[in-house]
Amino acid sequence: MKNINDLLRDCIRGLKPYSSARDEYTGEVGVFLDANENPFNNPYNRYPDPYQRKLKEKIVAIKGAKASQLFLGNGSDEPIDLLFRAFCEPGVENVVSINPTYGMYQVAADINNIDVRKVLLTDDFELDVPALLNACDDKTKMLFICSPNNPTGNSFKKEDIETILSNFDGIVVLDEAYIDFAPEKSFLPVLEQYPKLVILQTFSKAWGMAGIRLGMAFASEEIIRVLSKIKYPYNINILTQQKASELLDHVAGKDAWVKEILAERVKVIDGLSQLSFVHKIYPSDANYLLVKTDQPKAIYNYLVDKQIIVRDRSSVALCEGCLRITIGSPDENNQLMDALAQYNK
Ligand SMILES: *Cc1c(COP(=O)(O)O)cnc(C)c1O
Repeated sequence: MKNINDLLRDCIRGLKPYSSARDEYTGEVGVFLDANENPFNNPYNRYPDPYQRKLKEKIVAIKGAKASQLFLGNGSDEPIDLLFRAFCEPGVENVVSINPTYGMYQVAADINNIDVRKVLLTDDFELDVPALLNACDDKTKMLFICSPNNPTGNSFKKEDIETILSNFDGIVVLDEAYIDFAPEKSFLPVLEQYPKLVILQTFSKAWGMAGIRLGMAFASEEIIRVLSKIKYPYNINILTQQKASELLDHVAGKDAWVKEILAERVKVIDGLSQLSFVHKIYPSDANYLLVKTDQPKAIYNYLVDKQIIVRDRSSVALCEGCLRITIGSPDENNQLMDALAQYNK
């Protein structure tokens, strides 16, 4: 069994990180003359806390983890990229990913010159566990699973994810961006059982904060220390830290949004299922629906004409004919339904 240290790239294992002024002195004090900041309080003249200590305490109080098990990034995109840079030697090592899934893993891999071995889901969008494990060799550093999966919308079986966690000897990245919408439980409560598990969550979906760019990675202290060592020193700006902190005082607001979106999802499923050109609406544990139609491109273009934008996923593996439709506000969903009711008439 490999440990984190074995898995790291040599250049990261020995890295001495940049030491910022705020790294060297962190206590409360009246006069800061150490960072060449402008002294006039505007009130953004000071560098932010590089480790977002207060914000992390608030997040872990809600999520149930230790602050030392949490990394905050500029969206989930940042920890995805940092994981490649920490663990995968460009041009030499590889990762394994399911197919279809979220496009960012491939982009981050391409930027880092890492081969992605893609393993098709089964026809009913489940994990092909033997094929995933077979795709791994001694150069496979990470395995990406997204559950609920984008764009298919389903959650994977807990037992299948556990089998992968127990049998893959590398970093398992479990992307739970849509977990707030799912009836399935997060893997966060069992994080400590799996020292090589990284769980990604985000403020961009259920929390309604895509604009402030804040993503979370939960993992063992050892992995979090590595990510913190290689990130840009001040990766989360003051405005984002403040806004997120305010938001975390109103968890009930997030829960109410989720409840309303789930109720709207039922309505949209009901409306779509009446349409002759809709062949299948896949079960969804997320805030979007994957919908199989006979004319995805024509329907997409028709909706664009009506100023309604959905996502054409028809060229994606296993998604032939499919559009991905986000659940909007009640008014937006009504506009979608009215437009689709007029299609082909
Ligand atoms: C939307 C989404 C995210 C969130 O990305 P951010 O960079 O945090 O906005 C992460 N993973 C998946 C699968 C997503 O669909």
